[in-house]
Amino acid sequence: MATKKAASIKKSPKKAGARKSTTRKAAKRTPPELAEYRRKRDFSKTSEPEGGATTSGAKALRFVIQKHAASSLHFDLRLELDGAMKSWAVPKGPSLDPVVKRLAMQVEDHPIEYNAFEGIIPAGEYGGGTVMLWDRGTYTFWQRDPDPVARLREGYAKGDFKFVLKGKRLQGSWVLVRIKRGRPVKPQWLLIKHADEFARSGYDIVAQEQTSVATDRTMAAIAAGKSLNVTR
Ligand code: MN
Repeated sequence: MATKKAASIKKSPKKAGARKSTTRKAAKRTPPELAEYRRKRDFSKTSEPEGGATTSGAKALRFVIQKHAASSLHFDLRLELDGAMKSWAVPKGPSLDPVVKRLAMQVEDHPIEYNAFEGIIPAGEYGGGTVMLWDRGTYTFWQRDPDPVARLREGYAKGDFKFVLKGKRLQGSWVLVRIKRGRPVKPQWLLIKHADEFARSGYDIVAQEQTSVATDRTMAAIAAGKSLNVTR
């Protein structure tokens, strides 16, 4: 036993050295867009990802909506742009009804790896509470364009951010309109569904869809279960 253990200890520095040269140490570098995200969290306590990937590796840009039972229940809309997930807390969640405008409070950019997170942020930590993957998929500019990413970037900067979602629960054309620049606090926006074939007036999708799009779990089941990294 003792010799076996010693042998494995001997081996490990060699292994670590080999690993260092072949893989990138993502967690060491803090991209400026993730500085606030990391500052707010203690990764020795929360199982949320530290992040560090600059792209999801996929061609299409990703979006995710997480239902988050923190001090108050809300839905976090995250849209991939320039290597991070631009993020908004939407207290009432999205509505498919084009006459409904939903307040969306911008929060700090999140890492792309956050798209796979479902589980529990420990009580007392930043955002403590249960997180459900409520919807996810890809998104793009709302019109055909030779450079859709440039158009998305412009829309975001202008505060007139138009896009099309291809999720499991949300599809079609949407807009985020910035209503308050928000200094020193973060900007406030409105999330609005455009009138198209995916709009449904009077339909409360947030009330209808109560389970995880990734694991089928309810908020109660997630709260009683394990934190997961659900990539598919
Ligand atoms: Mn949140």
